[in-house]
Amino acid sequence: MKIAVCKESFNKSLHRLKDQYRIYAPVAMVYKGTFSDTDSIRYREISTLEEIEFNRKSHFSPKETLLPITQVLFYFTEDQYKEPEVDEKKALVFLRACDIHAVKRIDQMYLDNGEIDHYYKQVRDTIKFILIGCEKSYQNCFCASMGTNKTEEYSLGIKPVDNEILLDIKDEELEPYFSGKEKEFKMDYITTNEIKVSIPKPKEISRDVAEAELWREYDDRCIACGKCNFVCSTCTCFSMQDIFYKDNENNGERRRVWASCHVDGYTDMAGGHSFRKKHGDRMRYKVLHKVYDFNKRFGYHMCVGCGRCDDACPQYISFSTSINKLKDLEKEEQ
Ligand code: SF4
Ligand code: SF4
Repeated sequence: MKIAVCKESFNKSLHRLKDQYRIYAPVAMVYKGTFSDTDSIRYREISTLEEIEFNRKSHFSPKETLLPITQVLFYFTEDQYKEPEVDEKKALVFLRACDIHAVKRIDQMYLDNGEIDHYYKQVRDTIKFILIGCEKSYQNCFCASMGTNKTEEYSLGIKPVDNEILLDIKDEELEPYFSGKEKEFKMDYITTNEIKVSIPKPKEISRDVAEAELWREYDDRCIACGKCNFVCSTCTCFSMQDIFYKDNENNGERRRVWASCHVDGYTDMAGGHSFRKKHGDRMRYKVLHKVYDFNKRFGYHMCVGCGRCDDACPQYISFSTSINKLKDLEKEEQ
């Protein structure tokens, strides 16, 4: 069902939806950005249309709504453990096409990679997606090269045009919340980006790539801050932490927290051994995981080309450039 509604009517619908759903969208956190006088665009719970940032790419991905940065898995005492109460309320998340493709990658890792992750599934089962179309490509995006610029996998599509809100309602459960006049329209999506990447096919990447000189550039340039991983819509690694309470050290909680393959300690093992001490080797690991290992296993690339890693890197290291360097390496070898 495709309809047009006015802003007031849309806000009334959001108000009614909030009885059943938590609603998350990108919002501008004014002057909370990295540099002076810049905003940070993060996912937060919203109540009105006016809170939603439609015109700028979010700095963090919607992954925050599915996989909390810190999540308590259970509380323990000497002889018992208890999982936290689950919020049974469903959720609606406003996001872009590349981010919906990214959720497919997260699902692959947490639901279809041997074991089902029970904590992720509890949240994932409650979530529906609201697609924000892209009228233009943003800085550092390369979604068209990755084939993630378009999707039909949404419950509701939203397109604000002047004073009207155009809605493409695909989910029958959401239909009763909206009323407006029928209107035919197409969701926006971009067909090309300024940045294009060319990725060698997994079988074209030789094992010699591990020793290639190109990774040495990143030994000094990368400062191992991990920002690129934390903003990434498809990075899914976490670490475990046991927190022991001060008043009784036999009681506490086990948490999982986001981890980064770039930071020191990620590969630490018992006995003090650790892999990939050079920062360039960590870069190699990330690049090959995003466009090689994952593909070899599941048949499609992990990276969706959202460009957030490039937006965030304090050292101006470009992930898309590193992919193209990989392609150049393959050409040199031929
Ligand atoms: S590697 Fe970079 S471009 Fe690819 S999905 Fe992650 S943040 Fe986006
Ligand atoms: S954001 Fe840049 S400097 Fe920081 S870990 Fe990633 S590539 Fe290295």
